Amino acid sequence: MEVVIVGGGISGLVSAYKAAKEGKKAVLIESKDKLGGMIGTTSTSFGIVESAANGLIQTDSILDLCKDINLTPIYTNAAAKKRYFWSKGKIKQIPVSFLELLRGLYGFFFKEFTPKENESMKDIFFRVFGETISLNIIEPAFGGIYASALEEMDPQTVFSDLDWNNQKSLYRKLKSKKDKKRSVPAKLISFPSGMGELIEKLIVFLEKNTTVLLNQRINSIEEIQNRYPNAEIKIALPFHSVYHLLKDSEVTEKKVSPFSESDLPLQSITSITVFSKSKLFPSQGFGILFPKNETIRAKGVLSNTDIFPGRSKEGVFSETWIYAGKIAKEQSLEGLISILKQDRKQVSGKEEELSGVFGNEWKQSFPIYDKRLRFWNETIDEIEKEFENKGTSIRFLGNYRRGIGLRNLIESALRL
Ligand SMILES: Cc1cc2nc3c(=O)[nH]c(=O)nc-3n(C[C@H](O)[C@H](O)[C@H](O)COP(=O)(O)OP(=O)(O)OC[C@H]3O[C@@H](n4cnc5c(N)ncnc54)[C@H](O)[C@@H]3O)c2cc1C
Repeated sequence: MEVVIVGGGISGLVSAYKAAKEGKKAVLIESKDKLGGMIGTTSTSFGIVESAANGLIQTDSILDLCKDINLTPIYTNAAAKKRYFWSKGKIKQIPVSFLELLRGLYGFFFKEFTPKENESMKDIFFRVFGETISLNIIEPAFGGIYASALEEMDPQTVFSDLDWNNQKSLYRKLKSKKDKKRSVPAKLISFPSGMGELIEKLIVFLEKNTTVLLNQRINSIEEIQNRYPNAEIKIALPFHSVYHLLKDSEVTEKKVSPFSESDLPLQSITSITVFSKSKLFPSQGFGILFPKNETIRAKGVLSNTDIFPGRSKEGVFSETWIYAGKIAKEQSLEGLISILKQDRKQVSGKEEELSGVFGNEWKQSFPIYDKRLRFWNETIDEIEKEFENKGTSIRFLGNYRRGIGLRNLIESALRL
């Protein structure tokens, strides 16, 4: 059976890879003039700039995929093991007291991690780990992944694969879901010339078995079914495109009509990579996370030069600053660059001319892992089931489907 994949980001490309491995003919349809979606690497005279992801967590199947497409992963420098938090105007590795840390550890190992009625992510973390750890470590750490504040997130949406029908602690819940078959440690990887190399090598691998159609926007499920009757369908689109597709499809329109576009759980993110002649902070490390109760407006800054080898040219340092939520939605790129300069001055203690500044804006296109997204996923599960009952295979993939990082996206695309 033919496989039709709509959306040429990493989810769509890995779905096409899976089809090729299974010996199936595949058609990959992308609305833009290039593949890769959010992922892309630009080479500049100062070093490389990633448009979104700068790395992914390896798994056995991701390493197998890399081998198949002739791609060699690179690992983080030893220096990147250290992670920092901004606390009361200083860079710290542990931004809480020893007693607060002990209280947090006790909560992790022993306190029940099942939300009581209507408990938000913030409520459950405050109850289990205490307020100080939640605000100074957990919120910035989750902000670095989900780009949202704790009060915006829903525990069952974020930890969708945990068993919520027991009274166990977070440690015991995580332990019981651990994949026993995993043989490689959960390390961060990238590729010698950046994440774009993953896309390039996938494209080369797909040349033989996959028909790639660029500059073609798909507007409804009927459009796919009319063009490719009897095909297996994979919808690998960003959430806002899925909303429009379902709304404009006769078969699904009724299911999504209660949801309005202005109430979709979506947020904006802007990533700005800057190159400079002196390092932002003297120590080596992965970067700094900023709690929202401090004066810095960024969610975090990655110290690219310390993370992977070959990210910046000799004598130049590379950093990526991440802004998310209201500030990224409302500010122009120029506005955010001037905010970045103020933030940077607070961290380094001095004003410095930047050699190169490169921004990537993702306006209202990144999912918020809140309750609304949980209901959306349940609705999409129902849609998949209804099609299956009628004998049609339609699967929805992407960073809004219970897993935001590339590891989850690739594993899902390989499984579904
Ligand atoms: C700043 C930033 C940093 C990040 N850092 C990391 C990181 O370090 N590690 C990590 O694991 N993850 C990271 N992520 C997340 C990760 O990059 C994304 O979740 C992932 O790339 C999304 O891939 P996707 O294929 O699901 O969607 P997309 O990349 O959005 O691809 C969807 C594709 O569908 C196409 N399309 C849209 N509408 C239509 C239509 N109607 N018809 C046809 N085609 C259409 C789009 O043009 C696009 O090419 C980061 C994200 C951001 C924004």
